[in-house]
Amino acid sequence: MRLAKFGKDAGMATVNAVTGPVETSDLGFTLMHEHVIVKSPGVVENFPSVWNRAEEIERAVTLLRDVAARGVKTIVDATADMGRDIDFVAEVARRSGMQIIAATGLYFEVPRYFRSRSADVMAELFLKEINEGIAGTPIKAGIIKCAIDEAGTTEDVKKVLRACARVHRATGVPITTHTFAAGQTGTAQQDIFESEGVDLSRVIIGHSGDSKDIDYLSRLIGRGSYIGMDRFGLDMFLPTADRVATIAQLCKMGHADKMVLSHDANSYMDWFERPLIEATAPDWHYNFIPDTVIPALLASGVSEDEIRQMTVENPRRIFECCQPY
Ligand SMILES: [Zn+2]
Repeated sequence: MRLAKFGKDAGMATVNAVTGPVETSDLGFTLMHEHVIVKSPGVVENFPSVWNRAEEIERAVTLLRDVAARGVKTIVDATADMGRDIDFVAEVARRSGMQIIAATGLYFEVPRYFRSRSADVMAELFLKEINEGIAGTPIKAGIIKCAIDEAGTTEDVKKVLRACARVHRATGVPITTHTFAAGQTGTAQQDIFESEGVDLSRVIIGHSGDSKDIDYLSRLIGRGSYIGMDRFGLDMFLPTADRVATIAQLCKMGHADKMVLSHDANSYMDWFERPLIEATAPDWHYNFIPDTVIPALLASGVSEDEIRQMTVENPRRIFECCQPY
C-alpha cells in the first residue's frame, strides 16, 4: 500500500473539517460521535420520492444552529458509507457555522463489493478520502470509522478494521469505532488494532457508554484507548441515569482524561419513521448533553474541569496527535 502523509507538517495541529482545515485549538466543545444524515444505501437513489432533500437540509441547519447556540463548536460526523452524503453535510456546515469533521471507513454492514477484495483495496479508497477528498469533492475525511456489532468479528469487519488500522498508521488520522457494548466487542477491536501495530491511545472505542460494566470499561482504558460515552438519549441501550453514574464513577477513578461525550444522534435517518424515533427516544438529539447531561454530571460530583476535559481537551488531544508511524 502506498504510504502517504496527511499533508501537513509535524506540530502544525490542524484537522480537516468539511469546510477546510481547523486549528485543533479552535475545535472547542466537541461532540465526538454524531451523524448529520444516515440513509439506507440505494433507497433515495432509486425512490427519490421518499424524502425532500431541500427540506432536510433546512432542518439540519436549524438543529445545528440550535446546538451551536449552546456552545457546541464542532461535531464529528461518524458516518462512513451508510448513505453518507458529503454535499449535504458540507452545505449544512457552511450554513449553520458548525465545524463538522467527516469520516472515511465502513460500517459493520460491509457492502458486498468488498467481500472478494482485500483489506489493502479498501485501504487505498480510505486513504484517498483523507488525502484527496470524498466522492470527487475536495472535502477530506478527518477521522476513520469502523465497527464490530452483535455478530462479532466476522471476516468482513475484520478486513475493515485491518484496512482502517493501516490507513491510520499511514496518515496519523485517529480511529473511532462502533461497538456492541453488551458483547464487549471493543476488546476484539483493540486486539485487531494491536496486531496491526496500532497505538491504542489513538483509538476511540465508541458506544462504550452503553455499558455500565466498570471492569470492561477500565480494561479498555487500561490498554490506552479513549472510550466514547456517546449514546446519550438512547435509553433502550442504557438509561441516562446509569450513563451519568458510570461517567461519575470513572471520573472518581481518575479517568476523565479518557472519555469523550456524544449522542450518536442525527438530523435525518431513514431506518425508522420519524414519529417512531421521537416517541421512543425523545431525548435523542444534539441538545441533550448541553441541556440535561452536563447539569446531571455536575450534580453527580463531576467537576467543571472534568467536563471541560471530556468535551474540549480530549477531542483537541485526539486530533492533535496526528503523526503517521
Ligand atoms: Zn454512530
